[in-house]
Amino acid sequence: MKKTLYVKLLIAYLIFAVFGLIVVATFMQQMTISRLQQNKAEELYRFANIMSENEGLSLYQNESSIAGTKTVTDQYAEMLNARIQILNPSGLIIVDSALPVDVDNPPTVEGFDMTTLSGSFYTIGRFYNQFKSDHLSVAAPITTGYSVRGYILIHYDCKLIQKTADHLIDIDYILVLILFVLSLIILIFFTELVYMPLRRIIAATEEYAAGNLRYPISVDSDDEIGYLAASLAYMAQELAKGEDNQKHIVANVSHDFRSPLTSINGYLKAMEDGTIPPEMYPKYIGIVLNETERLIKLTNNLLTLNNLNTEGMILDKTDFDINDVIRKTISTFEGSCREKKIAMELSLTGDTLPVHADLTRIQQVLYNLIDNAIKFSHHNSVIKVETTERHNKVFVSVKDSGIGIPKESVPLVFNRFYKSDISRGKDKKGTGLGLSITKEIIRAHGENINVISTEGVGTEFIFSLKLADEEENE
Ligand code: ATP
Ligand code: MG
Repeated sequence: MKKTLYVKLLIAYLIFAVFGLIVVATFMQQMTISRLQQNKAEELYRFANIMSENEGLSLYQNESSIAGTKTVTDQYAEMLNARIQILNPSGLIIVDSALPVDVDNPPTVEGFDMTTLSGSFYTIGRFYNQFKSDHLSVAAPITTGYSVRGYILIHYDCKLIQKTADHLIDIDYILVLILFVLSLIILIFFTELVYMPLRRIIAATEEYAAGNLRYPISVDSDDEIGYLAASLAYMAQELAKGEDNQKHIVANVSHDFRSPLTSINGYLKAMEDGTIPPEMYPKYIGIVLNETERLIKLTNNLLTLNNLNTEGMILDKTDFDINDVIRKTISTFEGSCREKKIAMELSLTGDTLPVHADLTRIQQVLYNLIDNAIKFSHHNSVIKVETTERHNKVFVSVKDSGIGIPKESVPLVFNRFYKSDISRGKDKKGTGLGLSITKEIIRAHGENINVISTEGVGTEFIFSLKLADEEENE
């Protein structure tokens, strides 16, 4: 990972550089040369025209001599760094800046034909094989009246144009180089804004994977990378919380298992070595049984809770009469009510009150709430169970006038293993899992459960259920 991203970027840079150079070496070169040729041709053509109107005309109108014209032509040729010729239409050279005047045997340009020039005001080539290398040639006619008497030809060596072009192209190369160096700034930005933060994020994910969920990601930008880092940090934090929770649960479970097991172990050993005499056995067997019951309950609760979580809680919803379920559940508590002389008061709405929910799970909810109400009630008190119907919902309330829950404990009672201090004295068997199971079940139904409690006065738990659709029922 470390290398590839950088290598890829460097390859992109190399491609950029190579393409830049190719563009300069081909397009730019061609464009520069053709531009320079055009410019040169225009300049020479203008000059040729001026010359044809002056020196050309006066030569053909015999106003100046060939020798005089030759001198001027030579000067012009030197000034332009070119070769100037004055030709008859037949190709006969009258004056040539590169040759001495030869009146008796004047040289000719073989095959000279001005129609080949028509269309463009300049040509590039050897001009009827007069030169060994390419020259740019322009021609301006010398006209008197309506007839062409001759031509002024100016030839310029293409090598000179190439030389100028080379100078200009060198500047292009330098520009590309400067551009390339400047674009390294992008690389620096990329390194600082993307690459380094990414490496830090990778380092952090590696730490997370290795279990170090508290490792801080030191990326603090408000762009997408920063967002990614923040999301990862959040994920790690949540995982850490989950892990803490898990540890907490295991610690609680171990503790809850150890104390009954230690006491069972202690009593059994005392029986074995005779510390407890046989006549006392019934009492201690009772204690041991009590402890094993607690262990069974704890195991069952843990299994229930585990299933609730792992199944994603698949509910088997049916329509049933909640009033009936409440009555039946209460009847299972007759024994303990009689023991504590607790009276159950029912205030149920309607003869039947159909709800749409998972019957077994709701039975468990009612069992847990009523069990708590009885456990934490004083002797000779009353527990009220009520059902009401409102806005297509059924509300079930279980209300006692028992020890109540201290204000600071109210938000915690639905937590796993939570038991308030004042309840511990009253209930040594409790696992602290009943209400968390209850809450999970109600939540899976998409409903709510609330608690209202005042320490020393009493507690009320209210949960909602969906009213069964009457029409569907029939
Ligand atoms: P278990 O349900 O496994 O027997 P538990 O009853 O202690 O154990 P929960 O039902 O989850 O556990 O209740 C958690 C704690 O909330 C109780 O220990 C108690 O402190 C408090 N609590 C619950 N219901 C009442 C109530 N009706 N009155 C007073 N305190 C209550
Ligand atoms: Mg309970």
